[in-house]
Amino acid sequence: MTTDDPAARLAGVLAEIERAKKLAGRTDLIELIAVSKTHGAEAIEPLIAGGCRVFGENRVQEAQGKWPALREKHPALRLALIGQLQSNKAADAVALFDQIHSLDRLSLVTALARAMEPGKRPDCFVQVNIGDEPQKGGCAVADLSALLAAVRAADLPLVGLMAIPPAAVEPAPYFALLSKLAHDHGLTGLSMGMSSDYPTAVTLGATHVRVGSALFGARA
Ligand SMILES: *Cc1c(COP(=O)(O)O)cnc(C)c1O
Repeated sequence: MTTDDPAARLAGVLAEIERAKKLAGRTDLIELIAVSKTHGAEAIEPLIAGGCRVFGENRVQEAQGKWPALREKHPALRLALIGQLQSNKAADAVALFDQIHSLDRLSLVTALARAMEPGKRPDCFVQVNIGDEPQKGGCAVADLSALLAAVRAADLPLVGLMAIPPAAVEPAPYFALLSKLAHDHGLTGLSMGMSSDYPTAVTLGATHVRVGSALFGARA
């Protein structure tokens, strides 16, 4: 997107999602998560005014700094944690977020199960290291079945899978693999697609797309 106007950028992203849905013959709802990491309230407010209701942050501490005040003004907003979560921040994450997209290991299953409360049970996505990249977060594809079994045994509110495909290669095969893994494990939620590839992700079944720079402009 080349425009400086947040409303125009949002309209552009929504139009791209609609185009991809039509191409894929989809009529279901796709959740647009506006990834607001590094951006302050002055950048977030125009998107709220434009109709965005779900925002994504990658760090618990940063989110704790800016979202309580914004949510007081806009009670209907929902928050998604999309970045790595340390077990010792699990209680803070459960208190602040409505969705956690980065559940990627057994120790975090235990920590989240302990942190959940009757009125506060954020939707959980298990993050998969879909390209088996050594430096990347997410559970190895080979370990996914065991981790999902643990998530289910702990009775966490499991919604689906999340992944970030390897950079600078065609993402479609990775989206297709994530979709197959979800299907094989009886899961319907698919958190995949970022600014560079969300239309492709939508054609391959994404239910949640995480879009930052296409909505906010480039991060500093
Ligand atoms: C930053 C981030 C995004 C958004 O990235 P853009 O390329 O700016 O759209 C999506 N998902 C995760 C996990 C991120 O950390």
